[in-house]
Amino acid sequence: MIIGQIKDGIVLDHITAGESIHIYDVLGLGKLDCTVAMIKNAESKKMGKKDIIKIGQIIDLDFAVLGYLDPGITVNIIRDGKLDKREHLSLPERVKGIIRCKNPRCITSCEQELEHEFKLTDRENKVYRCVYCESKAPEQTK
Ligand code: ZN
Repeated sequence: MIIGQIKDGIVLDHITAGESIHIYDVLGLGKLDCTVAMIKNAESKKMGKKDIIKIGQIIDLDFAVLGYLDPGITVNIIRDGKLDKREHLSLPERVKGIIRCKNPRCITSCEQELEHEFKLTDRENKVYRCVYCESKAPEQTK
């Protein structure tokens, strides 16, 4: 793949510098057959440094998960070599299935089939609480 020239695919732009590997893992990009390019520490007027991930295929992305991981990301969908859609992410109101409640007395620890769900309670400080027991979500890496 020629960097900067994708026919059909997705470009994740404005990733916090150094975070692309984490995003790569969580999205399971290693399992894809198509070309995936990670650019670390690209120069950015807005951010100083940023990471970029280019995926040579249009895949289903969970914007809530992405927004939770890094709300500053811009998602560019490329079709036929042209920018088809641009999405600006933000912290989702709710996240399901990516963080687990650590409270041993929470209903999710005995009801195995219950999906772990968290609600955004403080956007400024990125605080999420369990919808069942109100425990704070475990600290994130960033
Ligand atoms: Zn809980």
